[in-house]
Amino acid sequence: YSATNREVDVLVIGAGQAGLSAAYHLRRRGFAPYRGFVVLDADDAPGGAWAHRSPSLRMATVHGFHDLPDSELPPADPDAPAREVVPGYFAAYEARHALPVVRPVRVRAVRPRPDGRLTVETDRGDWTTRALINATGTWTRPFLPHYPGHFAGRQLHYADYRGPEEFAGQRVVVVGGGASAIQVLSELGAVAETVWVTRTPPVFHEGPFTAEYGRAVVARVEERVRQGLPVRSVVSVTGLGPSVAYRRAEELGVLDRQPMFDRLTEHGVAWGDRELAVDAIVWATGFRSETTHLAPLGLRGPGGGIRMEGTRAAADPRVHLVGYGPSASTIGANRAGRAAVNEIVGLLGAPAALTP
Ligand code: FAD
Repeated sequence: YSATNREVDVLVIGAGQAGLSAAYHLRRRGFAPYRGFVVLDADDAPGGAWAHRSPSLRMATVHGFHDLPDSELPPADPDAPAREVVPGYFAAYEARHALPVVRPVRVRAVRPRPDGRLTVETDRGDWTTRALINATGTWTRPFLPHYPGHFAGRQLHYADYRGPEEFAGQRVVVVGGGASAIQVLSELGAVAETVWVTRTPPVFHEGPFTAEYGRAVVARVEERVRQGLPVRSVVSVTGLGPSVAYRRAEELGVLDRQPMFDRLTEHGVAWGDRELAVDAIVWATGFRSETTHLAPLGLRGPGGGIRMEGTRAAADPRVHLVGYGPSASTIGANRAGRAAVNEIVGLLGAPAALTP
């Protein structure tokens, strides 16, 4: 860590798809690795969130992966676990483009300095930077809604789900209306009795995901963050597409959705006075953006979210968020990386003019 320059022009937090895309564009625009910019990542090894996903998530069931800029994901065995294939691809990408990823470094807080720069406090000491690209994703902030009552059986969030084997022969409630719930149902349905509950009826998108439809969806999420409202996942507005997991779940007959229960009981869940005994509850209820370390910058508006103009925080032009809101998908993360770097070049000037 001591070999790394502690004063940089641009600091990227997070080396998932969004952070690596930003790093690629910083290099392309002439920022010098280590001297001009660094990427700090909390994990021990490459891969971002993909390294932590369930081993049962196979390449065939990933619902559409978009390559990093200027480098295709090599053809993969559809049965290979995504948690091995994607991190391998990221590791090769970091090496090939000589990206200055420093790990493991966890950022604790980002603070404004009197000289107009930012201090980035980490568990490995401080860095100083002129501009920041935050790409910390959502994986570290699983969201669990609160329901009254106490359930004595097993409960877990999708982030801790590791495949269907341990649920064989059990009755399991799967909560959530997104792609993760469908993935879990498509796997559990073969070995367990499943009960699917969602708060609102899931939206099934009929027909193909055309580019036009995709743009309309992104525009809706973008409008929310422009108003400073808390972000929702892209799938919450895309609806569920006809994925491999969806077709499998349909074949297994596990897509008969029940309304949300209103409380937990010792042995299960209950709707009014109807109680259902179950062995486990899997909460596939999504994630929130990991932005707690940005709190000292005071970016949040009265709506509770960070008000955004494109990838830029409306309250601070030095700060960009990529993989956030409308760019929280692998394709969105790529575009956001490029857009953020373009704006930072506009703010700081071209790198040649920056470092002697
Ligand atoms: P991540 O990949 O999460 O990377 C963030 C990085 O930041 C991590 O390496 C983490 O260690 C680091 N970090 C976090 N906090 C700190 C900190 N304080 N200090 C230092 N480092 C930190 N998209 C698709 O296109 N196809 C799919 O099939 C798909 N499936 C998905 C399934 C799930 C369950 C989820 C949650 C998302 C899915 N997405 C999918 C969305 C897509 O995964 C993400 O938008 C994208 O991969 C996230 O990339 P990212 O770089 O923003 O974040």
